[in-house]
Amino acid sequence: MLTAQCHCGNVQIEVKILADTLTQCNCSICRRLSAQWLYYRSAEVKIDCFREKTRNYEWGDKCISFHHCPVCGCATHYTSMPDSGLDRIAINANMLAPHLIKNLKIRRFNGADM
Ligand SMILES: [Zn+2]
Repeated sequence: MLTAQCHCGNVQIEVKILADTLTQCNCSICRRLSAQWLYYRSAEVKIDCFREKTRNYEWGDKCISFHHCPVCGCATHYTSMPDSGLDRIAINANMLAPHLIKNLKIRRFNGADM
């Protein structure tokens, strides 16, 4: 089991396997968050919030909801919205220990032009 967590430990995300590719996206929100995404289906991910629930942010077509820890501010993951037809949770790989992600392939996604 691998555990990603925000800085204060309020949000903990568990997955069984590490995805083999990190996605870096240059869209208007991802570049501001400096997030690197690992993609999963919702059934593959367990998310616990120990002190406070995550805060959400949706924008544009509202297909996905970005979550951050209200205590320490880290952007931990995003989830697909129920109406989107997607089943995706993207974990911000920067919430994992650096040695776990340092050798992953990096995919650069041009979200800015979508
Ligand atoms: Zn936190």
